[in-house]
Amino acid sequence: SITVGVLALQGAFYEHVQLLKRAAEQLPSSTWEFIEVRTPPELQRCEALVLPGGESTTMSLVAARSNLLEPLRDFVKVHRKPTWGTCAGLILLAESANRTKKGGQELIGGLDVRVNRNHFGRQTESFQAPLDLPFLGADAAPFPAVFIRAPVVERILPSHEGIQVEEEKREETVVAPSRQAKDSVAQAATDEHVEVLATLSGQAARIATQDRDVNPETEIGDVVAVRQGNVLGTSFHPELTGDARIHAWWLRQVQAAVQKRQ
Ligand code: GLN
Repeated sequence: SITVGVLALQGAFYEHVQLLKRAAEQLPSSTWEFIEVRTPPELQRCEALVLPGGESTTMSLVAARSNLLEPLRDFVKVHRKPTWGTCAGLILLAESANRTKKGGQELIGGLDVRVNRNHFGRQTESFQAPLDLPFLGADAAPFPAVFIRAPVVERILPSHEGIQVEEEKREETVVAPSRQAKDSVAQAATDEHVEVLATLSGQAARIATQDRDVNPETEIGDVVAVRQGNVLGTSFHPELTGDARIHAWWLRQVQAAVQKRQ
């Protein structure tokens, strides 16, 4: 069977487990085990991992206290197992994030992007918008995407060598320890590019931002879903809807990754 973990230090982990179970029922064959992860031995059992939404600073502090930060970095960047972060989880998987408070947080990294935390504003500015997710199929119905103090990917980082230099100039930015520092296995990850999987634009962006202009820097709208090799990040919370399509799509990829490994 395939063991998939959900990091259960804080946030919406219970909802992820429920939706993963429902998604698994839709898939052919394979037996799955879904476990809550709070300790390094629990993480070690997993073939794949979800980092839920919640509060990334808290999650990061608890992870550090649980001696999970380094094992998590190894999981993502060295063993390169499928890892999906939603909202706060996306922030933790970014190589770089602006921080909104003194003290900030340590990142896990894995996605060569910089995220802007709380891009859409405060709790009261949370919203739901129908989002086109082309990866679910050309004629898939829009996904009911829930954004709660959600981050966006504001930049795709050009190269690993570039990161430190670029970020040194931005003192309010935290940077995850580089992949290169990890080991030579992690080096292979640099061949994989960041793919933009979804943007909040057009109708969804108007609902979301009450006619605020879409990101002028990219002119494609706000980037709300990205993938780089084994790492997936979404700004929104699919675990807070009843819609299991992304979970099912991701589990199929986990299945493929596990088969390749064997
Ligand atoms: N903005 C939050 C953070 O910085 C994330 C919000 C969420 O996960 N809903 O952690």
